[in-house]
Amino acid sequence: MAASTHWLEIAVPAHVEAVEAVSEILSRYGHNGIAVEVPVASRGGADHIVKAYLVDDADAFAKVADARDALGHLQAFGLGPIGELAVREVEDENWLEAWKATITPIQVGRFLVRPTWSNASVAGTITIALDPGMAFGTGLHPTTQQCLEAVSYLDLDGLRVLDVGTGSGILAIAAAKRGAREVVGVDIDPLAVRAARENARANEVTVAVHEGSGADVDGTFEVVLANLVGSVLVQAAPHLRARLAPAGSLVAAGITTQAEREVLSAFVAEGLGVVDRDARADWVRLILTA
Ligand code: SAM
Repeated sequence: MAASTHWLEIAVPAHVEAVEAVSEILSRYGHNGIAVEVPVASRGGADHIVKAYLVDDADAFAKVADARDALGHLQAFGLGPIGELAVREVEDENWLEAWKATITPIQVGRFLVRPTWSNASVAGTITIALDPGMAFGTGLHPTTQQCLEAVSYLDLDGLRVLDVGTGSGILAIAAAKRGAREVVGVDIDPLAVRAARENARANEVTVAVHEGSGADVDGTFEVVLANLVGSVLVQAAPHLRARLAPAGSLVAAGITTQAEREVLSAFVAEGLGVVDRDARADWVRLILTA
């Protein structure tokens, strides 16, 4: 990029639960992904800031207007408060370095999730390198954290793991790094499939990523990970059950407390029972087995 390029910074305050969705929208317009400023101590409300940088050219005005529209539609999903989009010119030609400096590694369970350009490490943790602004799953969302924690303590050594709705591939990569013998990821979104493949390669692990749902996979797996949403889990329950090996564990997340009863009924109807439950910020993660 030429040194004389002018940049615009767009910044959107968002509640932690809306961060992934806001990031996805801003990453459509931003150059080189997005950045998320995380508060030192979250007080709730729109206290995270999602930022993207775009070239200040003839299309910039239309892009900012499109981003505003898309964010407006997002409010309808009730993901938690999203503040006003603010735009400012960025003078600093070293903005890329400044932007990178705002992205801090996060530790979840036994994993340290950090951007690819960082060489941060914490003794005793397993590093996952993921750049912000890619498909869903940068480690920030409570449901991803709940699943990463499950992957932290489940014994995966030598097992087959299926990750349904792999997104960025974060959970599949985590499972491979914890010693799973074979990891398969599926996602209905082709962009997620591409991102998950690239991320697995960048993390030097083998994950077979396919476009599709749990219904498109053959065979059985000792661990099935499914961080989806409640309605999708209800619909997918028979397929998820069919992929589960005898005495296997299903990690189901993305369940709101309101949807928990319905999701649980769908799994109970498939002969599964709960062995572990984690509830956090209105999100429930279940571990089930036959
Ligand atoms: N696994 C990642 C994580 O834990 O952060 C991403 C989870 S994200 C909440 C859900 C993902 O599931 C999205 O990437 C979406 O495209 C995908 N998805 C939605 N419905 C699906 C389905 N029926 N089958 C497979 N993937 C699906």
